[in-house]
Amino acid sequence: MITLIDLSRSPKLSAYVSREFFERAERILDHKGRILVYFNRRGAYRAFVCQDCSHAFECPRCDLSLALHISPEKRLVCHHCGHSSEVPETCPKCRGQNLKGSGIGIQAFEDELKKAFPSVNIARLDSDAAKTKAERDSTKNADVVLSTNLYHKNDPGQFDLVVFPCLESELVASEYDIEEKVYAHVRYAAKSSEEAIVQTYSPKSPLAISLMEENFREFLSRTLAERKAFGYPPYSQIAYVTVAERHREKAEESVARLLNKLQIAQNENRFEVAVFSDPSLLSKRADEWFGKIVVKGPGTADLLETLRIEIVRNRNVRLEWK
Ligand SMILES: [Zn+2]
Ligand SMILES: [Zn+2]
Repeated sequence: MITLIDLSRSPKLSAYVSREFFERAERILDHKGRILVYFNRRGAYRAFVCQDCSHAFECPRCDLSLALHISPEKRLVCHHCGHSSEVPETCPKCRGQNLKGSGIGIQAFEDELKKAFPSVNIARLDSDAAKTKAERDSTKNADVVLSTNLYHKNDPGQFDLVVFPCLESELVASEYDIEEKVYAHVRYAAKSSEEAIVQTYSPKSPLAISLMEENFREFLSRTLAERKAFGYPPYSQIAYVTVAERHREKAEESVARLLNKLQIAQNENRFEVAVFSDPSLLSKRADEWFGKIVVKGPGTADLLETLRIEIVRNRNVRLEWK
């Protein structure tokens, strides 16, 4: 059984601990039951931001925000390349000292839970807290396991209640099938225990309603209609052609060259395909620049034949089917 809790209206003990969640958890813990709380965000906060000028600290090797970690020590960490640095006290832009974490992560949520359940044995199962097998195995003895998606790879035991503290925090990835993944995950988790709690700021969203009503047919038909309207699989094919270069200009040049090749082939053969790229698809990861071309439509595979030699021979060009 899934219970949906509206985070914007329900009385709360803290940001993500609603009174209803608290009371149900207490009842289960009183009867020696176990609870799995799923929060798939490493670190204490997703970003570290100057409150005066909004400067967000970024990884020097990637164009990504650094996450603030508070345990085992306070550091700024890049979740892509692993770069880490001391937590600065002053903003490099405005010299202000009003710096704060933003976007709650699992370490800060662990503090919330510990305050709400001070005498309960709570274990965190993520790649920072549970590095060794012994550490991961020890979570089997905890009353409450707070986990990222690492629990898929481990067996933290049986649970009487599974809690998703904030449905929206699961939907941050910009993948076209993210809702489907979240739906399947919540349904699977809910089936593995007696009851499940899903907290959300948007209880009227189609995803929340389908989850509540356990109506997979409705979810499926709505999702398929959306995919059809926007030309996503299974009605179409999507592929990303990615180029990797040490310098930004080189990456931009390579994208322009390949894009040109694809557009010429498309004009000659009139494949049913959309081909596009723009600067927002350029990213920096671990000192490398990545440019991306999106190829979308029923004729994607045929059009990509044009780049066969590039893709096979050129190490800097990669093809990824979605
Ligand atoms: Zn500042
Ligand atoms: Zn990085």
